[in-house]
Amino acid sequence: MRFDVITLFPDLFTSFLKESILGRALSKGLVDIGFTDIRTFGRGPHRVTDDRPYGGGNGMVMKAGPILRALESIERIGKKSHVVLLTPQGQTFEQSVAWELSRQDQLILICGRYEGVDERVRLGHVDRELSIGDYVLSGGELGAVVVIDAVSRLIPGVLGGEKSNLEDSFEDGLLEYPHYTRPRVFHGMEVPPVLLSGDHEKIRLWRRAESIKRTLQSRPDLLKQARLNPEDKAILDRLQGK
Ligand code: SAM
Repeated sequence: MRFDVITLFPDLFTSFLKESILGRALSKGLVDIGFTDIRTFGRGPHRVTDDRPYGGGNGMVMKAGPILRALESIERIGKKSHVVLLTPQGQTFEQSVAWELSRQDQLILICGRYEGVDERVRLGHVDRELSIGDYVLSGGELGAVVVIDAVSRLIPGVLGGEKSNLEDSFEDGLLEYPHYTRPRVFHGMEVPPVLLSGDHEKIRLWRRAESIKRTLQSRPDLLKQARLNPEDKAILDRLQGK
């Protein structure tokens, strides 16, 4: 899968993308990431990319022209190329959206700065607006990294074991169960004995119950959409004292 990031600050990405899972995915050629510097597409000796807002007010607005020229300069890969604008006003980015995006051939991510981008970029040239949460960041670059990371994990071969993301939080609408590793006792806290029992069925049931319990405690809103089988429903009823 190919990602193209349109940004004023391509250098912000370098160290993050060269490490760990993403770094390996890049070096194996499972994902490919390009950066298009909006500044290159600014006009005049100062390569201007922003201007004062019509109607007055604070801050600067990113001009449409340089962003559109940057967009047009990007080669479209495959049949499914999707243009995403990072904005706090967009649809909230969540795991189901990450799955949808992972089916594209190419994602082009436009990162705003300042007060945001000229509205005509959004109106005419964007397939989807995405927010990474209800807070305001200084720029879309962190959002682009979040999207690239979450989507790349879903591309076959990027994670070591093919199945290792299927038990992650949100995959079936629940939070994942807790994890423990050595030592067996840490600061007086013991690993739950069932995890040492070697009984795979008991471990599976314990993990499922823990997953439902923590979802009930921390994110009860998720339970409305979660895919619960009769065994899960029985666990939930028990936890709720029904
Ligand atoms: N004036 C805008 C508003 O109130 O909606 C906020 C602009 S913000 C300071 C600058 C840029 O950061 C945005 O254009 C967007 O690209 C990015 N950004 C800020 N918060 C974001 C969020 N929660 N999700 C995704 N991108 C965000």
